[in-house]
Amino acid sequence: PKLPYDENNIFAKILRGELPCSKVYEDDYALAFNDIRPQAPVHVLVIPKAAYVSWDDFTAKADDAEIAGFMRAVGHVTRQLELDEPGYRLMVNMGTNGHQEVPHLHVHIFGGRQFFQMIA
Ligand code: 5GP
Repeated sequence: PKLPYDENNIFAKILRGELPCSKVYEDDYALAFNDIRPQAPVHVLVIPKAAYVSWDDFTAKADDAEIAGFMRAVGHVTRQLELDEPGYRLMVNMGTNGHQEVPHLHVHIFGGRQFFQMIA
């Protein structure tokens, strides 16, 4: 089922400045901040500034400038990670089966440890 965008989701509140975050990067298209329950020594979330529920919603509805701007922002964050060892992992959870909890698109960036084939 496709959900309408919920203006009261937690990342919408962070974008509006109603809730704090530990900001890592911000530009016109994206905001990046540290995950509140990190799953790795580095765990950053990157979200588009515009209101998109999910990866599917974003890739269907965002215009080319938004998609490019968001992807550039993710790249900016990954390139500026201060890691002792090179390498990191990106993840997007989509929908209930993908274990998406927050209904505003977010890209997870994990780093600072060795990862294995999958995250359970
Ligand atoms: P999902 O399961 O939707 O892909 O991931 C949601 C992520 O958001 C989780 O890793 C969770 O720890 C993080 N998260 C949930 N609420 C907050 C919050 O209020 N602040 C921050 N920084 N991260 C949050």
